[in-house]
Amino acid sequence: MSGVVDLHVHTTASDGTLAPCEVVKLAKEIGLEAIAITDHDTTAGHSEAIQAGEKYNLKVIPGIEISTRFQSAVHILGYYIDQNSLELQTALAEIVRIRDERNEKICQLMREDGFAVEYDSMKKRFGDVIGRPHFATLLVEFGLAADVQDAFHHYVDKGQRYFVPRTFLSLERSIRIIRSAGGIPVLAHPFQYRLPDHDLRLLLEQCIEYGLLGMECLYSGYSADQSAYLTRLAEEFGLLITGGSDFHGSAKPHIQLGTGTGELHVPLKYLNALSHAAHSLQ
Ligand code: AMP
Ligand code: FE
Ligand code: FE
Ligand code: ZN
Repeated sequence: MSGVVDLHVHTTASDGTLAPCEVVKLAKEIGLEAIAITDHDTTAGHSEAIQAGEKYNLKVIPGIEISTRFQSAVHILGYYIDQNSLELQTALAEIVRIRDERNEKICQLMREDGFAVEYDSMKKRFGDVIGRPHFATLLVEFGLAADVQDAFHHYVDKGQRYFVPRTFLSLERSIRIIRSAGGIPVLAHPFQYRLPDHDLRLLLEQCIEYGLLGMECLYSGYSADQSAYLTRLAEEFGLLITGGSDFHGSAKPHIQLGTGTGELHVPLKYLNALSHAAHSLQ
C-alpha cells in the first residue's frame, strides 16, 4: 500500500477502540504513508499520536471532527490544527459541557432501570469526550446487546429508550474555530447527509462563505462513481480533495484502517496538496 494515506481516523481519545499509539503502529504495519487523527470534538490524542509517529516513522496529521447541523447532522473535519489555540479549546470545552449535560441524563435513565452507571467512573475509563458509543459499550457489557451496533439499534439511536438529544455548535462557528486554529476545514462524508444535489450545493456555498477549504471525496463505502462525482464538485467549487476510512476499531468492525470497507485507496497526492495549503495559511 505504498503512496496511500488515511485522513479520517478515530482513537480512544473519542469513540475509537485503539489508543493513538496503537493506531499509528497499525498504520505503519499495513504500509500507510500517513494518517490524520480526527477524533470527535477533541485534540487529546494528538501528542501521543505524534510521538508514536516519530517512533514508527509515520507522518501524523493533527486533526479533528466537529459535529454540527445543517438541515440534519453535518460533520466538519479540521486538519493541521494548532491544539494550543485558545479559541478552539474554549469551543471544545463548551462541547464537553453540552455532552456532560446530555450524558448525565442518559446515566439517570439507565439508573432508573436498575443499572449501576456512574458518570464519574465513565469519565475515568473513557476520557473527557463521552458519547453514545460508550453507553453502547456498557450496554453490551451488561448483556443487553450483542455488540455496539446492536446496542445503538435497540437503545441509543434516535427514538430508542436511552436516546437523549444534545445541542451542537453552529456550522459557522465550527468552521471558523478550525480556521482560527490555523487548520483546514473540510466537509466530511457528504453523502451521509442524504441531501439532494441542489441542497448539497447550498451547503457547500454556505460552508465556503464561512471558510471551508476542502471536501472528503473518498470515504468508506463510496463507489468509484460517487467519488468521481464528489471530486468534480470539489474542483468546481475550488475545494481541496481529501479521503479517509472513518476507522473506529471494533466500534465499527466493518471499517478497516486504510482500506475502509475494502475499496478505499486515498493517494498521497491529496495529502501533499492539503499540507501545501496548510503551510500557505501560515
Ligand atoms: P454522540 O456524538 O454521542 O451522539 O454519538 C455519535 C457517534 O456515535 C458518531 O460519531 C458515531 O461515530 C457513533 N455511531 C453512530 N451510530 C453508530 C452505530 N450504529 N454503531 C457504532 N457507532 C455509531
Ligand atoms: Fe464516531
Ligand atoms: Fe463523521
Ligand atoms: Zn469520523
